[in-house]
Amino acid sequence: MPDLVGQEIDRITPQLIALRHELHQIPEVGLDLPNTARRIRSEIDSLGLEVVKAKSSTGYMAILHGQAGDGPLVLLRADMDGLPIKEATKLPWASKNGNMHACGHDLHMAGLVGAMRALAHVRERLAGSVIFMFQPGEEAYHGADKMIAEGLLEAAGRIPDHAYACHVWAGRYPAKTIFSRPAGAMASSDNLYVTIRGRGGHGSAPHETHDPIMACAQILSEIQVTVAREFDAFDPVVVTCGQIHAGSTENVIPNEAKMDFTMRSVDPKTRIRLQARIQELIHSLAKANNVEAKCVLDPITPVTFNDAAEYQFVANTLAVKFKERWLPQSHAMAASEDFAYVLEKIPGCFIGVSAVPEGTDEHKVQFNHSAKANFADYAVADTAKILAELAWARLQP
Ligand SMILES: [Zn+2]
Ligand SMILES: [Zn+2]
Repeated sequence: MPDLVGQEIDRITPQLIALRHELHQIPEVGLDLPNTARRIRSEIDSLGLEVVKAKSSTGYMAILHGQAGDGPLVLLRADMDGLPIKEATKLPWASKNGNMHACGHDLHMAGLVGAMRALAHVRERLAGSVIFMFQPGEEAYHGADKMIAEGLLEAAGRIPDHAYACHVWAGRYPAKTIFSRPAGAMASSDNLYVTIRGRGGHGSAPHETHDPIMACAQILSEIQVTVAREFDAFDPVVVTCGQIHAGSTENVIPNEAKMDFTMRSVDPKTRIRLQARIQELIHSLAKANNVEAKCVLDPITPVTFNDAAEYQFVANTLAVKFKERWLPQSHAMAASEDFAYVLEKIPGCFIGVSAVPEGTDEHKVQFNHSAKANFADYAVADTAKILAELAWARLQP
């Protein structure tokens, strides 16, 4: 059979790129993206799809019912938000409003619109349905889990059977490659806020005090020992103290010190173990130093975890479609991703798409979240094809 969705995406690619450039000029930050949402809504409405709007954000669930009988329900997702960064790319379609689509979510939206249009074009050949999730607030605003908490995964009447999303990357991966891996694709992210309470006093008489700064110093170094000696090097974890505050002058031992940590892991079980072990270590070192520790754990994002069977399906499908451009990914990325919340509820797969301009060294260009990150337009059609082909393959009668 001819590649109907691929051909349709080839036909509409100039329009998808124009849409990407348009969205790129109006990036909005957070959960409320009125202009972006209006533009996406017009695309959904032009296809006459059923749509459910989120209450917690300007997110949408659009639903396409196939006309070739019953079958699975497939969720495809794009995130919509930009970052509060002043763009420095000098591209003709650079941002005009002081924010920037520096993580490529403009390409994700244009790609999902492309998949939506191509699948709508072949709806009489689809057995089953597709739900298109347009999600604001991916950049640490919990946009996905807020939509899930509203019950929107069931916008089409039940929980979907499969879920797929792509992410474009401006560097690190060779131009035009497409990749994924089974199990952890992106790391979990948890914050840990630690307060050490001791007994302050004169800097000349530390024996009369319980020094919270000395406790902090031990905690900081022992955490790195624990990470290196108690966790498998092939199941990596990262613990970073990004903020530490104590004291006011050189000759006074303060009463209190505060430390803020970020913790990353790429396996859900390891994440639980890491959360517990680091807190246990802090409490035992505090005890040894005659100080008190209070730990407040703030779980931010789960591991973006690709189901083994889903990964195999994606690898088989994309290897046929993209040939040598498809690559198994050697290791997870330490950044985290909101799609993790969807993958906690629905088996699925998160797929990486290089957007490095052709002929460019992927290690010499700026990466995502840089004011100079430059995502090549070709990745719009790639994203559209990946998402559409996966849904197409799942919905064959
Ligand atoms: Zn980002
Ligand atoms: Zn992103």
